[in-house]
Amino acid sequence: MTYTWNRIIVKVGTSLLTTPDDEFLSSYIAGIVKELCNLRQSGKEIILVTSGAIGAGMCKLSLKHRPANIPLKQACAAVGQSLLMNTYEHLFGEHHQTIAQVLLTHQELANRKSYINTRNTLLTLLQHNVIPIINENDTVSVEEIKFGDNDTLSSLVAQLVEADLLILLTDINGLYSKTSDGKGFGELIPVVKDITPEIVDMAKDTKNKFSTGGMTTKIKAAQMATMAGITVMILNGRVECIIGDALDDKGCGTVFTAKEDKISSRKRWIMYGLKTTGEIIIDNGAKEAILNQGKSLLPSGVVDIKGRFEEGDAVIINGIHGDSLAKGLVNYSKGALVKIKGKQSSQIEEILGYKYDDEIIHRDNLVVF
Ligand code: GLU
Repeated sequence: MTYTWNRIIVKVGTSLLTTPDDEFLSSYIAGIVKELCNLRQSGKEIILVTSGAIGAGMCKLSLKHRPANIPLKQACAAVGQSLLMNTYEHLFGEHHQTIAQVLLTHQELANRKSYINTRNTLLTLLQHNVIPIINENDTVSVEEIKFGDNDTLSSLVAQLVEADLLILLTDINGLYSKTSDGKGFGELIPVVKDITPEIVDMAKDTKNKFSTGGMTTKIKAAQMATMAGITVMILNGRVECIIGDALDDKGCGTVFTAKEDKISSRKRWIMYGLKTTGEIIIDNGAKEAILNQGKSLLPSGVVDIKGRFEEGDAVIINGIHGDSLAKGLVNYSKGALVKIKGKQSSQIEEILGYKYDDEIIHRDNLVVF
């Protein structure tokens, strides 16, 4: 079957930008850049999400191990990011391709306004035939505003701009099954239609000293993107012309097929764009209502509240046995919810002295897992 991919996000992992001898820039990246330029020239819209800033900084500062110390890691990122962009500027320049640097933290995607703003900027760059090159702004990212790994970042970017295809380039051929003893790699899995627990289990981490994610974060990234209707490919970026061959359907790597019943952009933003600091535990009646009847969450179904949150924050909803059920934007702060849990909506005003809504979480703001 031949597909037409128009907007493609390509993620390059650190293992493609560093050699085993701690040198920055292996030869692979020049070939990848050439492929991206060819695609751009054939009319495709391309966004590159690149890792490698910390790895490049480590090489430049002659560090043998990935720093555990956060300021040193952030210093490496600052040194490495400019080296990285300088390298890309040179490589893309050989093909007369204009590029743009975009550094993001989770904060830009957590706020709906800056989410839309970031989207508009990226789309404007694409309209001007530019290839945006995105990385996490590691130098300023602290835990609360971190994506953590670029597999996740690339998946969120793919959703942000409604891409058709996300390509995760790494240094292995794709996802492998496990051998029967569960210890080694079996066969390459060419197509994944559903990301089942068995598939998640196959994602044995293949981390090296430069990288963050390994296969586990790639599977998570694929899960998010396919749910948003985006096909995902894991390909070996060390193989020449791998992107072109994969797009020509020559059976390369592992392809995760996009889901047809994709969730809306707003619900995707709630699901993946927002971090949560709180948890609401609900009874079985409320569980049935939100999971199977598409209802909103009312105070009567709430049995316990954990963590901290204010009205408008994203929270996780769990069942009484600790089963994760949904995520949503809550209408009441934790302090208010503690007072109205287990009560009828008609009692909210009497208890709190005010009422925003009958619902704790309205179904339009609720994403069921
Ligand atoms: N942002 C990190 C860097 O540029 C990479 C994170 C990752 O490897 O996923 O070094």
